[in-house]
Amino acid sequence: MDKHQKSPLKTALTEHGVSRRDFLKFCAIMAGTLALPAGFTPKIARALESAKRPAVVWLEFQDCAGCTESLLRANRPTVAELVLDTLSLNYHETIMAPSGKRAEKSLADTVAEGGYLTVVEGSIPTVDDGIYCCIGGRTALDIMKEVAAHSAAIITVGACAFYGGWPATTPNPTGAKGVKDVVSGVPIVNLPGCPFNVDNLTATVVHFLTFGSLPAVDDLGRPLFAYGRRIHDNCERRGHFDAGEFVQAWGDEGHRKGWCLYKMGCKGPVAFHNCPTLRWNEGLSWPVGAGHGCIACAAPNFWESPAYEPVPIHQLTPPSTYPDAEAAAEGLSPAAAGLIGAAAGLVVGAAGAVAAQRLGKEKEEE
Ligand code: SF4
Repeated sequence: MDKHQKSPLKTALTEHGVSRRDFLKFCAIMAGTLALPAGFTPKIARALESAKRPAVVWLEFQDCAGCTESLLRANRPTVAELVLDTLSLNYHETIMAPSGKRAEKSLADTVAEGGYLTVVEGSIPTVDDGIYCCIGGRTALDIMKEVAAHSAAIITVGACAFYGGWPATTPNPTGAKGVKDVVSGVPIVNLPGCPFNVDNLTATVVHFLTFGSLPAVDDLGRPLFAYGRRIHDNCERRGHFDAGEFVQAWGDEGHRKGWCLYKMGCKGPVAFHNCPTLRWNEGLSWPVGAGHGCIACAAPNFWESPAYEPVPIHQLTPPSTYPDAEAAAEGLSPAAAGLIGAAAGLVVGAAGAVAAQRLGKEKEEE
C-alpha cells in the first residue's frame, strides 16, 4: 500500500469519528483478550492500520442462523465492528447484496483467486451423499470441500460447525458433522458456543492480521485465549460456591441474592470459555450473571447433556482461597492449590499494573 494512501480501517475510523485514543484502547483490549503482554498494543495497532482487506467467504449450512445474529448484534458501530468491516466479505448468503447466480459467481470468483479466510456456520449433512442441505444445486459437503481446498485457513463459528450441534443430536437423521470431520489439510480454528461470541472472532481476526497465523489452540482446536480457562474459576458467583451458598430452587431467596447455581445444574466447573470476562451484549452480562446456570455450550455434544442436573465434582465447598477446580479434583492439597491461585493472582495483578502504567504514560504523552 502507498504510504500516503489511507488504509481502509483508518478511513473507516475517521468516517465514524473514532478517536486515536479509542482505537488504541481497543488494541490494548485485544492484546488482553489474546493473553498477550500490553507491549503488543502498538504492534496490533500498526498491523490493523496497514492490513490489506483479506477476502472472506462465510458459508452457512444446517443451523438456526444464531451465529449470524451474533455477528450483527451491535446497535452502533464499534471499533471492533470497523475492524471486522475491513474484511472483504465476498460471500455470505444471509447478508450479501447479490442473490441467485450472481451470488454464486461471487463465490466462484473468490475460490478461483484462493488464499481467503473461510468462516463456517452450521453443520454438514453427510448421509445420502449430503442431499439434505443444497445451495445453488450443490450439496453443502461438495461446497465445503471445494471452498476449503483453496482457503488460507478456516474459522468455524458456533456449536454446529464445531461438531454438528443440534442437527447432530440423536438420531442425527442427516448424518450432520462438524467441519473438522469432513475437511483436512487446512488450518482450522473452532469458536464454539451456541451462539458463538463475535468478540472472539474479532480477536482471532486481529491475531491473523497481526501475526499472519491463527492463535494457539487446545486439543479440540479451540483458541486458548478464549477457551483456556474454566468458567467456574472466573465466575462472579464463585464466592458463594466457596461459602456453600447455593440456589436450591428457581426464584428462592438464594436466587434473588445471586448465589451459586451449581445445584441448579450449572456446568461452570467443567466448562472452558471466556464468557465471565468477555460477556455478551457489548459486555453487559452473561447467562450466569443473568441468573441461569452455564450449559457448557462450547463443549462437544452439549445438546445431549441434561441442562439441570449438577455435574459431579470433587467437593462442594472448597476453601476460600479460590483453588483451580481441576487441581483440587486431582488431589492437590487445598493449601497448594491456594498458593497456585495466589501466585496466578499476583501475575494477573502485575500485568494489570503494567497495563495501567502504560495507559497512564500514553495519556501523559498525548
Ligand atoms: S457452579 Fe456455576 S454459578 Fe456456581 S460459581 Fe461455578 S460457574 Fe458460577
